[in-house]
Amino acid sequence: MTDVAARATAGFRAAHGTEPTGRWAAPGRVNLIGEHTDYNDGFVLPFALPLRTVAAAGPQDGERWTVSSELSDSAVSFDAGDLASPGRVTDWAAYVAGVVWSLREAGHRVPGARIAIASDVPLGSGLSSSAALEAAVLAALVDLGGLDLPADRQPRLAQRAENDYVGAPTGIMDQSAVIRCRAGHALFLDCRDESIEHIPFDLDAAGLAVLVIDSRAPHRHADGEYASRRASCERAASRLGVPALRDVAVADLDDALARLDDDETRRRVRHVVTEDQRVLDTVELLRAGRVREIGPLLTESHISMRDDFEITVPEIDTAVEAALAAGALGARMTGGGFGGCVLALVDADRADAVAAAVTSAYAERGFAAPGTLTVLPAAGATRLD
Ligand code: ADP
Ligand code: MG
Repeated sequence: MTDVAARATAGFRAAHGTEPTGRWAAPGRVNLIGEHTDYNDGFVLPFALPLRTVAAAGPQDGERWTVSSELSDSAVSFDAGDLASPGRVTDWAAYVAGVVWSLREAGHRVPGARIAIASDVPLGSGLSSSAALEAAVLAALVDLGGLDLPADRQPRLAQRAENDYVGAPTGIMDQSAVIRCRAGHALFLDCRDESIEHIPFDLDAAGLAVLVIDSRAPHRHADGEYASRRASCERAASRLGVPALRDVAVADLDDALARLDDDETRRRVRHVVTEDQRVLDTVELLRAGRVREIGPLLTESHISMRDDFEITVPEIDTAVEAALAAGALGARMTGGGFGGCVLALVDADRADAVAAAVTSAYAERGFAAPGTLTVLPAAGATRLD
C-alpha cells in the first residue's frame, strides 16, 4: 500500500480538487505496562507506534469544516450551528467534530478547514486509532489557525472531544501518548496529576524490539466488564478509606487485603496495587538502561491480569504463552482486556520466529490468524510538511 501521507494527500485532491496546505501525523500507541491503573489515579507507561494517522488539510471559508477519510465513501460537512446541536455529527466524523467543538469550548477561534484522513493504525484493536485521529486533526487546526495551544494542554482538549462530544469514557493516557511521546522513549504518566516524564526506551540500541500481536479476539462484554472492574476498585478504595487505590502502598497491601471481606475484591485490589509497583520498577530499570530486565515484570503483569483482575481471554493467553515459549523475554496483554493486543519483548533477530510461533499456536487451537507487527518506540504528533 502507498505511504499513508501520500494517501492523505491523494484523498484531499480527490475530495477538493486542490492541494492541501500541509499534512499532520499522529501515531497509534501501546501501553508497555500499567493496566487498569489509570482510573485508580496510578501510573501508566505507553509508547508511540510507527503506525500513523495523517490529516492533509487546508483552509475553508467561514466556520465550516469538511472531512473525508479513505475508510468512508462520502465526506462529512458541518458548521458552527451543527456543533451546537448534540448528535448532529455522528459516527467517525464525530471524532473530528469533537476536536473542533472542544477547541471552541476552550475559547479558541477555530479556522474553517477541509481535512482528508488516511491511516495505518488499525481501528478498534486497542492501538488508539481514535486518539491518533483526534491528535492529527488537532495539530492541523492549531497550525492552520495559529492557535495558542502548547502541546502540554492538547491531551486534555482531545480527551474532552472523545469524552464529551463522542461520548466515549476514556482516561487521559491515549491522548497524552499520541501527542507527547518521543522516539526511543516511553511516556511515564502519573494519572493523578497528569505529570509526564520521558523515559529512555531505546530498544534498537539494546538489540531488542517489541512484537505487537493483534489477538483478533472479539471484544466479549468488554464495556460491562470494564464498568464492573472500575466500580469494584472504587468500592474497595472507599472501604479502605483512601481517595484511590493508588494510595495503597505495596508494603501495606497485606493489611489492606485483610480489611476486605471478599476474595474477588481482594484480587482486584492486589492487581492494581502490584501493577502500579511494576510500572515504577519498570521505570527504574529503564532509567538504569537495563532494558532486557523488564521482561519478567511484563509477564508478571500478564499473570496478574489473568488470575487476579480476570480480564484476559483464551486467544490472549495463547499468544502470551506461545511468545514466551518461543523465547520472548516477557509478554503481556496490553489495553483494557477481553481482546485487543498482546506485546512481547523480543531479541530483534527473534521477532519473526516468535511471531511465527504465535501464529502456529493460534492455528492449532482453531483461532482466526493474529496480526503481528514488530515495532520500536516512535514520535508523537507532528507536522510533516
Ligand atoms: P481504538 O482507538 O482502539 O482503535 P476506538 O473504538 O476507540 O478504537 O476508536 C475507533 C473509531 O475511531 C473508529 O470506529 C472510527 O469511528 C474512528 N476512527 C479512527 N481512525 C479513523 C480513520 N482513519 N478514519 C475514520 N475513522 C477513524
Ligand atoms: Mg480509542
